[in-house]
Amino acid sequence: MSTPFSGPRVIRQLPDQLISQIAAGEVIERPSAVVKELLENALDAGATQLTIRLEAGGVKRIAITDNGCGIPPEQMPLALARHATSKIASLHDLENVTTLGFRGEALASIASVAQLTVTSRTADAAHAWQVAGHDPQSGSPASGAQGTLIDVQDLYFNTPARRKFLKSDQTEYGHCVEVVRRIALARPDVRFTVTHNGKTTEHWQESGLEQRSAQILGDEFASARLSLEEFAGPLRLQGFVGLPTAARMRADSQYFYVNGRFVRDKLLTHAVRAAYQDVLHGDRFPSYVLQLDLDPALVDVNVHPSKIEVRFRDSRAVHQFVFHAVSRALARTSATAQGEVPAPAAGLSAAPSASGPLPWVNQPMRQASFGVAQERATYGAMFADTLRADTSGVSQSGSAGSLQSLFPSQPAPAQATDDDAFPLGFALAQLHGIYVLAQNRTGLVLVDMHAAHERILYEQFKQALEEDAVQLQQLLIPVTFHADPVEVGTAEENAGTLAALGFDIAAMSPTTLAVRAIPALLKNSDAQALARDILRDVREFGGSRILGARRNELLGTLACHTAVRANRQLTLPEMNALLRQMEATERSDQCNHGRPTWVQLALNDLDKLFLRGQ
Ligand code: ADP
Ligand code: MG
Repeated sequence: MSTPFSGPRVIRQLPDQLISQIAAGEVIERPSAVVKELLENALDAGATQLTIRLEAGGVKRIAITDNGCGIPPEQMPLALARHATSKIASLHDLENVTTLGFRGEALASIASVAQLTVTSRTADAAHAWQVAGHDPQSGSPASGAQGTLIDVQDLYFNTPARRKFLKSDQTEYGHCVEVVRRIALARPDVRFTVTHNGKTTEHWQESGLEQRSAQILGDEFASARLSLEEFAGPLRLQGFVGLPTAARMRADSQYFYVNGRFVRDKLLTHAVRAAYQDVLHGDRFPSYVLQLDLDPALVDVNVHPSKIEVRFRDSRAVHQFVFHAVSRALARTSATAQGEVPAPAAGLSAAPSASGPLPWVNQPMRQASFGVAQERATYGAMFADTLRADTSGVSQSGSAGSLQSLFPSQPAPAQATDDDAFPLGFALAQLHGIYVLAQNRTGLVLVDMHAAHERILYEQFKQALEEDAVQLQQLLIPVTFHADPVEVGTAEENAGTLAALGFDIAAMSPTTLAVRAIPALLKNSDAQALARDILRDVREFGGSRILGARRNELLGTLACHTAVRANRQLTLPEMNALLRQMEATERSDQCNHGRPTWVQLALNDLDKLFLRGQ
């Protein structure tokens, strides 16, 4: 309850200490914020070796030692004063700032809420000098090598309200380490050591981004990532993006830097996310370490107290650039980029190059060599008539027909001559109703039938939607089903959106819906299940967004519905048609859930399995 208004009160100038404490509320919200500010200061001072000692999650103590340029004794009181900085002197400097800090308030803020001591020595000083935060004017000589030690103890000792908001030591420690990781990823050339309660917990030697990011993001990332480097005018983007297969359940491995500064910027996150959209289901988060560099005059870093957000002068251009750079990297993804395709066996010519686009991506299907047109027709027929094939018992049926297709009497056609046109080779057999086995020049190709088919359908729907050419299939007999009021409401409110998607779902009663039309591409799927899923997506994402920002989630739902199920027995022509479709489909090597759709086992992998030639 606020006290009742009782007339004007006296206006006072706040004391410096209180001003700093108020400022500290903004920048120093928890121990990790202290770590961030101190590390940035050390890097601004040119340090190449940093030791971060933490006690009790940083609440009891944060001591950071650097080997930077140091602070001359006579400047130390100023370093601790508010709005005192060596980094900028004018507005022009601010607009072109290249240091991490420039606001001149970190040390003052920290000193106002903790016991702070600075020990520092410059290159030409005979010894170090030490001052305490509460009395910066009276320093004393101290021992110490060149560089600076900032020792922060008992954080929030004088602001108990703040202290109450802290979590357990382990949690605070976790936040501190996360801050160190962020900074360490930006500066792989700097050595970092972290200790907690006297034990060394992290140690990263000076290295490059490739190694540093592998150390920090882990093996999973290191073994499934693409490197990227692109320039456009004043913009440069470099780093590593994780393959969709390495995506995570949480957005905890996303590191984006602008001019060396870690940022969490909506525009940038969105650009990256959009690039992944086609290859990643909405509930997975890509991993990446990306560094965007540009002329500092083109970006305002002074829009957030802890500088975690930035503002670009031309945000559209930046968005486009980042989006396209990441998209291009992902579009060249292939087994090769995962380092999974070994060198081709002797006598065979090289596998697709690791860096260039895959030779078959985006190429129209070839008609010439061996009845592709016919196979395509077969393929069309396949998902036109049998998608509702009973999934039970097919593979056990043991009929002559299925044996025939598992052990074909003739060899796959023309494989020796046409490998360039058909990089995925030719089908040999189907395994357990799940995988298609094919032979190509490199060796054996294994295709996850369902995942591959899903990918293809996804791209087909996408194209149809983009061209606003979703064909409707009227159902001869509408499928009615019992629906809950939310479903009925969703159908009524979003009739327009549903129509654009190729659906006609009408309310027959407050608890009954009738599906009268579904998209022609999906004409053989279970209309009721499909309608339910689509209504759920429309409700969840909203009618307008489902055709825009969330369109790809929807496409995923649809494709999943229609894709050929496991256990569906395919004939060889059907399998070959699937391979040809995959070759003709962009990004066909990952399904839209981010799983791979096919893998290559090279002949020499197989040789190794049998210890041949050893
Ligand atoms: P800012 O970094 O915004 O300038 P700070 O309060 O963080 O403000 O630091 C004030 C000044 O103290 C810096 O401008 C810098 O000159 C000096 N300083 C702080 N930490 C260090 C350090 N580790 N090594 C050398 N100088 C430092
Ligand atoms: Mg600073």
